[in-house]
Amino acid sequence: MADRPQNWAGNIVFSTGHVERPASVEELQDVLHRADKARVLGSGHSFNPIADTDGVLISLAALTGIRKIDHAARTVTIEGGTTYAQLLPALHAAGYALENLASLPHITVAGAVSTATHGSGNGNSNLAAAVAGLELVTANGEIIRRQRGDADFDGMAVSLGALGVVSALTLDVVPAFDIRQTVYLDLPLETLLANFDAVTGAAYSVSLFTRWQGDHIDQVWVKALATAGEPSETLFGAPAADAPRHPLPGMDPGNCTPQMGVAGPWHERLLHFPIGFLASAGAELQSEHFVSRTVATQAIQALRAVQARFAPALFASEIRTIASDTLWLSTAQGQDAVGFHFTWKPEWERTLDAVRCVEEALAPFAPRPHWAKVFTLPADMVRARYPRLPDFVALANRLDPGGKFRNRFVDDLLFG
Ligand SMILES: Cc1cc2nc3c(=O)[nH]c(=O)nc-3n(C[C@H](O)[C@H](O)[C@H](O)COP(=O)(O)OP(=O)(O)OC[C@H]3O[C@@H](n4cnc5c(N)ncnc54)[C@H](O)[C@@H]3O)c2cc1C
Repeated sequence: MADRPQNWAGNIVFSTGHVERPASVEELQDVLHRADKARVLGSGHSFNPIADTDGVLISLAALTGIRKIDHAARTVTIEGGTTYAQLLPALHAAGYALENLASLPHITVAGAVSTATHGSGNGNSNLAAAVAGLELVTANGEIIRRQRGDADFDGMAVSLGALGVVSALTLDVVPAFDIRQTVYLDLPLETLLANFDAVTGAAYSVSLFTRWQGDHIDQVWVKALATAGEPSETLFGAPAADAPRHPLPGMDPGNCTPQMGVAGPWHERLLHFPIGFLASAGAELQSEHFVSRTVATQAIQALRAVQARFAPALFASEIRTIASDTLWLSTAQGQDAVGFHFTWKPEWERTLDAVRCVEEALAPFAPRPHWAKVFTLPADMVRARYPRLPDFVALANRLDPGGKFRNRFVDDLLFG
């Protein structure tokens, strides 16, 4: 048996060493005809077994790049294995941008949208909301193409990989724009609680980093449109940093995107970690839970009440906002959301205890867990938080009646 691949964090060893690398959609169809069970493995950045299968892991690393830019429709169509690192410079060179990005470019676009990956900004939706169309190779090898407005389309981008293989994605683009990134230090928690919407709405994209120690938000990362002018010296009283920062304690700020208010291209500022550099700590685990933005301050206070229990397991935590969308399995479906992200030290049992503590504190606010990160919430509780889940299950059963793309993770979680 060939070596079995692991995920990026190394906490998951996949159940099979059988990896197929089709170099064309025809070869992909052939792989699917032969396989009883299959799953695409993107860049493997998920922290749970969402990408696992005991059948065939499919790498689309040979199916990458831009297929087409449609200037009239303002869209770009990419191959199913394309990473953001491959897409962003080429898109920028063509004069276009994506509206928002996650913290890192190393991940595949299809893997990101499949798990409702997001960035930040009161007005910025989940990355999957930018999907205007997709091409799916289904269990029997059939190619289907759907676009926004088609029946069931809102169920297809955030799919947890359970509908088929996404062989191409069409994404909305906007004209390229410039961003100034400024980091502010030590924002008092009381100030944040009194002004939450104003702080998170202070610019195009705002992220709050805290170690949940003391009474301050350690760093506020502000990504402002360059057209908004020079950054101010303070943000709600918090001073701008006098040198670049890394959001995690002790890490090299040289691994982060440019700061200090210097204007530069969107794809070099909306990310926290640039193309070609180490993302985050490298050795870590992550969890994230989303609640309605209307209860953001109560949720912060609930976490603060138990912070002494989970803070020792933590590198740092990031609080971000995500605009509401209509995608059936999006963590921001039907509500403007706030995400409580935690970058944990790479200690599995300790992380699980800490995640349970966070989930207990957030329980009154009906948290939805990030599909790609660590969580322990019972499946029936998770299911109950997605009103369109029955529609998704029906869609999955129609597109994949034999369950080729089902694995234990989605079976337990979604199909119960
Ligand atoms: C350092 C780090 C930083 C992160 N930052 C963020 C962040 O800022 N915001 C955020 O929301 N998340 C973040 N994440 C989580 C990350 O975005 C998700 O794990 C995302 O799914 C990773 O994409 P991937 O290509 O690695 O997907 P994988 O983990 O390989 O796969 C995820 C799922 O997508 C499916 N899939 C992948 N490609 C296809 C395809 N072509 N067709 C069908 N199904 C497919 C897989 O089968 C699997 O079910 C971060 C993770 C790490 C490790």
